[in-house]
Amino acid sequence: MLGGTTESRRLVAADVGHGWISSVAGRTRQARAGGEGVRVGGFGGVAGLVDYLRAEGIGAVVNATHPFAATMTAHAFEACRQAGTPLVRLLRPGWADHPLAESWTWVDSHAEAARALKDAHRPLLTVGRQPLPHYRALPRAVARVAEHPGGVWPDGWEFIEAVGPFALDSERELLGAVDALVSKDAGGSDAKLVAAAEHGVPVVMIRRPELPDGSVVVADQGGVLAWLDALA
Ligand code: NAP
Repeated sequence: MLGGTTESRRLVAADVGHGWISSVAGRTRQARAGGEGVRVGGFGGVAGLVDYLRAEGIGAVVNATHPFAATMTAHAFEACRQAGTPLVRLLRPGWADHPLAESWTWVDSHAEAARALKDAHRPLLTVGRQPLPHYRALPRAVARVAEHPGGVWPDGWEFIEAVGPFALDSERELLGAVDALVSKDAGGSDAKLVAAAEHGVPVVMIRRPELPDGSVVVADQGGVLAWLDALA
């Protein structure tokens, strides 16, 4: 299980029938704490993952990483191809078909999103911690992150350290105090998007990275278990 997401944790907890090994990158304190059946840290690129799959005799790989974990997704695809290990991508549905989708400004990159914020006085950034350097030129921003990125940020920046899912009421309060929202097309709870629409806050939405050609994709836990059954 390539994890680091709510889906991956839920699936492994719910399915005791398979001998899961969960792998996390170890970006957060919670992830670094590890736990039973959890390995922490990168594999060392494609070659490292191929070695790992062979050494551990891994029978199948479920890539349940975040929809924007593009490097891990590409590495898993290539490593499983080389090792001959079956691979499935668990990818929750995105928001491209959301009823509000046409009201958002869709962009392909964080650089483009940052440019789209030129008229915002207090934008809310919900893009995670790693892409924040792309937004550094903004004099003011509210960045919601699981953990503070450290380092020095412009005086007008505020950080909210919090982990979702977030309730609609608290999203309403937060969105009422900003004048733009940047989000990745992560899928999952749309509370912040509903709250933004209620307050007339413009949304900049970053498109998902493309999947490797030939990826086998399922949308939920049931899809993974059916895929595993079919393998067996
Ligand atoms: P990424 O850019 O696709 O991956 C960068 C490198 O981190 C990979 O090449 C790999 O190192 C290592 N890595 C990533 N996921 C791993 C895993 N599950 N197990 C072991 N190594 C892993 O990924 P990211 O965007 O930095 O995300 C890192 C982790 O945070 C993922 O597990 C993801 O599910 C979780 N996460 C990401 C986001 C997001 O917005 N991107 C949001 C929530 C959670 P090697 O090349 O050395 O193997």
